[in-house]
Amino acid sequence: MATPAQPIDWQTLRTAARAAQQHSYAPYSKFRVGAAALIDDGRIIPGCNVENASYGLTLCAECAILGALFMSGGGRIIAVACVGNDTDVTPCGRCRQLLWEHGGANLLVDVEGTPTPLSILLPAAFPEHSNFENPSGS
Ligand SMILES: [Zn+2]
Repeated sequence: MATPAQPIDWQTLRTAARAAQQHSYAPYSKFRVGAAALIDDGRIIPGCNVENASYGLTLCAECAILGALFMSGGGRIIAVACVGNDTDVTPCGRCRQLLWEHGGANLLVDVEGTPTPLSILLPAAFPEHSNFENPSGS
């Protein structure tokens, strides 16, 4: 089981992200994005972007990761690497919030080779679901 206390194999994560971008569906922007997430049980889950003719409905690579995360048993995300057209990129603002819910403030993102906590990339994030209290008490 991978934990932040254990070394993260960033090269393997970056390689998985680069492989994932080859599956991208990006006929409109031609910006092929791949991402890969290290899960707390050691799994590496890749994802790619899937564009749509409406543009606004385009799914980022991180969205594919989250779907696959839950399809394969869930877990917490420890680290993420992303590439776009073979260049290091960071998750967009929307995806930073999506990742926060499943990895939290300490999730590490590869920022041009520097592991960076999500709390730096998304200060004052909207709280995780677990932080909500049901006002009805039920
Ligand atoms: Zn995104």
